[in-house]
Amino acid sequence: MVNQLSDPRKEAGAKTILEVRHLTKTYGDLTVVKDINFAVPSGSTCAIVGPSGSGKTTLLGLCAGLDQPSEGNVFLDGTDIGALDENGRARERAENIGFVFQSFQLIPTLTALENVMVPMELRGKGGASTATKARELLERVGLGGRLAHYPSQLSGGEQQRTALARAFINQPKILFADEPTGNLDTETGRLVIDNLFALNASFGTTLVIVTHDSELAGRTGRVIRLKAGVIVPDT
Ligand code: ADP
Ligand code: MG
Repeated sequence: MVNQLSDPRKEAGAKTILEVRHLTKTYGDLTVVKDINFAVPSGSTCAIVGPSGSGKTTLLGLCAGLDQPSEGNVFLDGTDIGALDENGRARERAENIGFVFQSFQLIPTLTALENVMVPMELRGKGGASTATKARELLERVGLGGRLAHYPSQLSGGEQQRTALARAFINQPKILFADEPTGNLDTETGRLVIDNLFALNASFGTTLVIVTHDSELAGRTGRVIRLKAGVIVPDT
């Protein structure tokens, strides 16, 4: 019977949360991402590594629906995000996707607590229960004593841990991080990464992390190597 032939990925216990098919991005005659294909199982961790200019940030932006491909598709939990209009993609990002940037990108006029609440407020879910959740997340990353600090009053590591709390408050299905330790010294970076993996473990969030940090890449389940916009096969 046909329906006894089940999906091998399901037999392995993990469904695919992100699938990229024939993904290509060109700027004029410059092709920066070339026919990329890969799939990421739900709950897994994955690093994207490669030299500067190899297309890592472009690839991450396409996967997160921040940017549109020239060709190919990105499926997030089965939804072809290229088929959505801008509102649909914005909703997808707000509800299912977290993003952490190298340069933290906190809002300077908001406190740490208010920054962490922003993704919920954008979904019309501000208020006391969100403030409680935000405080709990900040406590989880060791910032329970910094709730009322503004970004300019926080160290780089503290800003990035605030950004982690913000990225997790919606309990996204998948979190993309672009060189999250790139602006931090080794010791501070390690603390940020410890927090990232601890949150990943307790929420089951899939992580896709662009990094130059071999220690960080070594802690993920899989490493994808990019060179000049293509995936270098594993040797
Ligand atoms: P990485 O993150 O690996 O350093 P990027 O994805 O930022 O690489 O960039 C890959 C290439 O694409 C670079 O050569 C860069 O100059 C080019 N590029 C990126 N964004 C644009 C853009 N908006 N317009 C034109 N070229 C771009
Ligand atoms: Mg980059």
